[in-house]
Amino acid sequence: MKKTENPAVPGFASLGLDPRLVTALGALGYEEPTPIQSEAIPPLLAGRDLLAQAATGTGKTAAFALPMLHRLSQAEKGRKGVFGLVLVPTRELAMQVAEAIHRYGRELHVRVLAVYGGSSMSQQLRSLERGIDVVVATPGRLLDHIGRGSLSLAGLGLVVLDEADEMLDMGFHEDLEAILEVTPKGRPIALFSATLPARITGIAAKHLQDPVSIRLDGKSHGGPPSAVTGRVRQTAYVVSRAHKLAALSRILDIEDPTSAIVFCRTRTEVDQLTETLTARSHRAEALHGGFSQEQRDRVMKRFRAGATDILVATDVAARGLDIQQISHIVNYDVPNEPEAYVHRIGRTGRAGREGTAITLFEPREQWLLRNIERLTKQKIEMTSVPTVADLRARRLELTRASLREALLGTDLDSFRVVVESLSEEFDLIDIAAAGVKLAHQASGGTDDEPEIPKVLLQVDRPRPPAGPVRPAGVRRPKSPDAVTLFIGAGRQAGVRPADLFGAITGEASLPPGAIGAIEIADRFSLVEVPGEAADAVIQALKKATIRGHKVIVRREREGPRG
Ligand code: AMP
Repeated sequence: MKKTENPAVPGFASLGLDPRLVTALGALGYEEPTPIQSEAIPPLLAGRDLLAQAATGTGKTAAFALPMLHRLSQAEKGRKGVFGLVLVPTRELAMQVAEAIHRYGRELHVRVLAVYGGSSMSQQLRSLERGIDVVVATPGRLLDHIGRGSLSLAGLGLVVLDEADEMLDMGFHEDLEAILEVTPKGRPIALFSATLPARITGIAAKHLQDPVSIRLDGKSHGGPPSAVTGRVRQTAYVVSRAHKLAALSRILDIEDPTSAIVFCRTRTEVDQLTETLTARSHRAEALHGGFSQEQRDRVMKRFRAGATDILVATDVAARGLDIQQISHIVNYDVPNEPEAYVHRIGRTGRAGREGTAITLFEPREQWLLRNIERLTKQKIEMTSVPTVADLRARRLELTRASLREALLGTDLDSFRVVVESLSEEFDLIDIAAAGVKLAHQASGGTDDEPEIPKVLLQVDRPRPPAGPVRPAGVRRPKSPDAVTLFIGAGRQAGVRPADLFGAITGEASLPPGAIGAIEIADRFSLVEVPGEAADAVIQALKKATIRGHKVIVRREREGPRG
């Protein structure tokens, strides 16, 4: 396999970014800016305020991180204090964004700190004292630091509100307002939000100055394309990031494609996936923008000739490829805009043939799929990764099909002798079963695959119009499999919805969207979680502290509360 030694990323260089950032992006395997990056980076480099509608998976983190880092690198030498501030709704996102900024800013030696509730205060204080350039924080904990005087906003060069709608849904509105109030006037602010309800545009109108507006809602590029037809079966598998590679391999085992293109985002991913698939006996080859024309031609020739079943490619590399008869299109990630999905899928199901489109997604990305469904006006079946039992059943089915084919053939005479001689000693069915066993084993694939953990799909629920708090007693109808948990602390103990949200998503690793209604009463709180996750959440919360206290957590009993 060819690895790229010296990747060039002219798309990023032409946006005017520091060459050291462009180099870092090349090393990460990025080939070109995503739409949100092309649109957001220039105004942020110019110091403008920004209001951007962009969801997770669109590349929004780099869209604000790169200009932040560029401007940090240009800031004067004697600069002190925090330059970049990113506010995020959850500790997971805080860690994820801090990690991304660290990666992009590696060559600039940028000091990044994630600041969130639940982590050690003294450690955060020590890091802040030593000097930090970028802080990624959840609003509550940031306010604690501002209140203590351990974090100064005086030197801020850019403030980012990331996933602003999630922050409001989690009850952080007041905290956000308080932070923006004490932010020195005139510092650029970028607000990123998946949706733009009135509560968000209200914050924008109050705190942003003459912002550049960007909307990436899938409607900006014309009407629904005709490429997706009813002939393409569309399935999406929910999987956690850690198990994506294993899931891809399992899905390919089950689907057994004759000619598939697996799309992924970066050159690095292309190389990694190809290596793993090859190691697992798939006939896969890589294709990305780092290949010479000659290399490309060789790869394509083998693919067209059927010597390779799977082409692992970036969008850039696959551009302009005209290949007929693709049986499967696989999206290793949800494409960052619906049009890209449609464009990719359009390569299968051509000329009246059936095609299959497969997408792997993390729970957080579910709503990108909803956007695609809206654009194509077609349903994508969302399901879990096949289990080991599914895989075994499928393999047996394939063996059965091969045997059937052999039985329909005519060249069995030379094998009959073997059966006849064995039949003097053994039962005919047993002989046949032994033959099936050998054929099954010879077809490859071991049966000792580990199970891939099942991931909970986010419960589809409309966003509550004014945050998740409702007065006790006013209950939204439960979703059928939801369970209400009783938590022995409420308003009097200072509990806010955000505390419960944070504790459940953080300690029990439940995706934010899986959490249903939250009610905070004076002396207790009630939270709806999916039934299958209830026990795990109870166990996790029992070990955690909420607002500094250990609390009682149990299923809510029927009858009067209290
Ligand atoms: P985000 O929407 O920021 O959560 O990013 C989603 C994923 O896209 C992350 O895994 C990024 O590393 C990746 N990504 C962001 N920008 C690009 C790009 N220009 N090319 C390839 N991958 C990217």
